Amino acid sequence: MIPYGRQDITKADIDAVVNTLTSDFITQGPAISAFEAAMATYCTAAGAVAVSSATAGLHIAYKALGIGPGSRVWTVPNTFAATANAALYCGAQVDFVDIDINTRNISINALTSKLQSAAAQARLPDLVVPVHFSGLSCDMAAISALAKQYGFKIVEDASHAIGASYGATNVGGCEFSDATVFSFHPVKIITTGEGGLITSNDPDILENCAMLRTHGITRDPARLEREADGPWYYEMLDLGFNYRMTDIQAALGLSQLTRLDTYVERRNEIAAIYTDAFAEFGLGLPVDHNNTKSARHLYTVHWPKGLGNLDRRAAFEAMRSRGIGVNVHYIPVHRLPYYERLGFEAGQYPQAEAHYSMAISLPMFPTMTTLETNTVIDVVRTLSQQ
Ligand SMILES: *Cc1c(COP(=O)(O)O)cnc(C)c1O
Repeated sequence: MIPYGRQDITKADIDAVVNTLTSDFITQGPAISAFEAAMATYCTAAGAVAVSSATAGLHIAYKALGIGPGSRVWTVPNTFAATANAALYCGAQVDFVDIDINTRNISINALTSKLQSAAAQARLPDLVVPVHFSGLSCDMAAISALAKQYGFKIVEDASHAIGASYGATNVGGCEFSDATVFSFHPVKIITTGEGGLITSNDPDILENCAMLRTHGITRDPARLEREADGPWYYEMLDLGFNYRMTDIQAALGLSQLTRLDTYVERRNEIAAIYTDAFAEFGLGLPVDHNNTKSARHLYTVHWPKGLGNLDRRAAFEAMRSRGIGVNVHYIPVHRLPYYERLGFEAGQYPQAEAHYSMAISLPMFPTMTTLETNTVIDVVRTLSQQ
C-alpha cells in the first residue's frame, strides 16, 4: 500500500535523538529553546513556544488570548476536530463559517456576511481560527481587515502549513494574526513524534503560553505577585497544564527542520506532476492563489459523482484495493455526533459538506518515488476514464 503520508527519519535525526538521550537533559533542556529559536527565525516571528501537540497549542493559544466561558470562537467545518475542541476546552462557544469549495479554506464572503448578522445581534466572535487546509494559506489580509473592523482576534491553525508562505512572509510570521499553531504529528510536514508549536509577535501571548504549558507556574521575577521566599520560589498564576515538549522531541524537530524546504519543494513537484497528469480526467483539483506557496501537506481531489461510473465511496474503495492508501479530509466537524448533540445539523454548511462528499486525499510525501507517483496516476486514470 502506498500510504497517503509518511514521515522521513534519517540517520542524522536518529543521531540527534540519541545525543539528547545521553545528555543531561531529556526534557526542558537546551534542545527546546534551540528548536523554538530556530522556528521563530524560520517563520520570522518574535518568538515560539513548543508544546506537546498542536491540540495543546491551540488550547493554550486560545486561553492566552483570553478565551474562556462566554467567549465565542469561530472556525471552519473542514478541519480536524481539535481546532474546535480546543475552544470547548476553554469553555467557549463554537460556531462555524463555511468554506470556499475551490480553495477549501474559509470563505471570505461567508465570514463577512456572518459577521454582519452577528453584529446586528450583538453576537460577534472573540476569536476566528482560519485553517490553512492542505498547506494553502487562507486570505489572511482579508481576514485581518475584518478583524480590525469587527474587533476579533485571529489564531491560524497552520497544522498543515509549515513551510508555506503568504505574500512575502512565511506562515507563522503572524503578520495578520495574533498567533499561529503548527503540528509535528508524523503525517504532517516535519515531525517530532507528537508535538506542536505556537508562534507570535506579542510578548504577552508568548509568556502566557509558556506559563500555561507548565501548570500556569512562573519563576519570572517580573511576573511574581509577591516577594520571593528564596531562590526556589515560584508562583502559580493561572490554571495551566503539562503540555511540555521533551528535549528528545525538540532534537528531532531541529534535525527535521534542516530539511523542511527540501520537503516542501518535493511536495510541490509531486503536486505539479499530479496536476499535469489529471488535467483531462474530470476531477476537481486543488487551486492556488497567486500570492501563496502551499506546503502541500495534502493533495485532495474532488471526485464528482458518476466520474468513471463511480461515486466517491466506490472510487475510494477501488483505489484502496489497488494499493493506493487514500484518505478523506475532512468529515465536517459540525456533522460529528458530539457536535450534532450541541445543536449543529446537516445542511448548515453546504460547501464544506459538498467538499466532504467528493474529497479524496491522494498519497503525498517527500520520499515518494517516481514509480509510486506513476502508480497513483495510472490507477486514477483507469478509474476515472472507465
Ligand atoms: C493534525 C491537526 C491538528 C492536531 O494536531 P496534533 O498535533 O495531532 O494535536 C489540528 N488541526 C489540524 C487542521 C490538523 O490537521
